[in-house]
Amino acid sequence: MAGSVVVIGGGLIGLSAAVHLRRADPRVPVTVLERARVGDAASGASAAGVRAMGRDPAERALALAGLARWPELDRELEAKTGYRRGGGLRVALDDAGWAEARATVGEQRAAGVPVELVDAAAARRLAPGVSADCRGGVHCPIDGQADAVATVRAWATAARRLGVRIEEGVGADALVTQGGRVASVVRSDGAPLACDAVVVAAGAWSAPLLGKLGVELPLRGRGLQMLLTDPAPASLTPVVGCFGRPLSLKQLDDGAYLIGGGWPARIPDERQNRWEVLADSVRGSLEVARAVYPPLTERTVARSWAGIEAFTPDEIPLLGPVTGLEGLLVAAGFSGHGFALVPAVGDILARLALGLDPLRHLWSGLAADRLRT
Ligand SMILES: Cc1cc2nc3c(=O)[nH]c(=O)nc-3n(C[C@H](O)[C@H](O)[C@H](O)COP(=O)(O)OP(=O)(O)OC[C@H]3O[C@@H](n4cnc5c(N)ncnc54)[C@H](O)[C@@H]3O)c2cc1C
Repeated sequence: MAGSVVVIGGGLIGLSAAVHLRRADPRVPVTVLERARVGDAASGASAAGVRAMGRDPAERALALAGLARWPELDRELEAKTGYRRGGGLRVALDDAGWAEARATVGEQRAAGVPVELVDAAAARRLAPGVSADCRGGVHCPIDGQADAVATVRAWATAARRLGVRIEEGVGADALVTQGGRVASVVRSDGAPLACDAVVVAAGAWSAPLLGKLGVELPLRGRGLQMLLTDPAPASLTPVVGCFGRPLSLKQLDDGAYLIGGGWPARIPDERQNRWEVLADSVRGSLEVARAVYPPLTERTVARSWAGIEAFTPDEIPLLGPVTGLEGLLVAAGFSGHGFALVPAVGDILARLALGLDPLRHLWSGLAADRLRT
């Protein structure tokens, strides 16, 4: 496979695929069609946690490959992602949480994720201010965080520099096949765009596009909500989570705390990238965050937003070719944890499109065909 490639979706996955394609073979014309603006959906709204800890076993190898790339990304992309490796700490506030913490460490370590069990005193040294109820937790020194908006900008800038044509405000309406191969993409302005391969990286909107080809994949969009507080003096280095309570908490470079953890937002119309923050989610999210990290009781919420993310039933992504349709590649359904995977997934997509070694050992449990109905 080679010729020209169209990437549908200018989120981080599509942008990374485009960058890797041009890097691997600068002769291949690559066009990214983005129906709105790059990063408008999940990617720009992301909590931008870069984590290997607590992953589904089928996703671990890919996460480790992704994390190996992050420390060099600013240099690679010649732009700032805001990445910093401050570690991840998942704390236990009760017996059940502590039992879970102890149960998960061995299995993750055996799979190469360098987690360690820490007692309450060590947890407090890593994250001073964490609740007095903390029984201990699991620490992963290679976890970290980036800045979602800066990261989108960095990948888009690198893509343009490498000669990728990014068309914003132009959607893909349909894919056209000929003799069992992808032949072209119908743009939203009606013009056909001939190509030899298509990467469908349209996030929560990938399923309707593929459905028109008879490829039924069980992807559903969910709204995930984020809170940002007013700034405070720097005090929190790792990304903090909690066993049994939905939380991801990090302090940003400007001192503001970013609070997430999968709290739902409302999606009024699944076809569009529109969401409404739910008062119950704001309340619940703050309650959990303050219970785990009491210094947050002195902070107020400065901003809230949500992002629509594609989920699969087993909450791990769909990646790779679709049997029976040459030239069609899918990367969607990252289920709330695709940000960290972006460098590795883009590399795999480019390799698949160009017929290079697709590093299948990294994603053997994530094949797009596994959930096809
Ligand atoms: C609030 C939130 C917090 C998150 N936190 C984390 C985290 O801490 N760590 C982590 O690893 N992951 C996290 N994630 C998940 C991660 O951000 C996503 O998995 C990742 O950004 C998905 O990127 P994507 O490119 O697949 O999708 P998207 O960014 O959604 O991009 C898809 C793009 O396709 C475009 N599009 C749709 N249909 C068409 C069409 N027909 N034609 C052209 N373009 C189209 C859309 O406009 C959109 O820009 C979070 C997600 C959210 C929403």
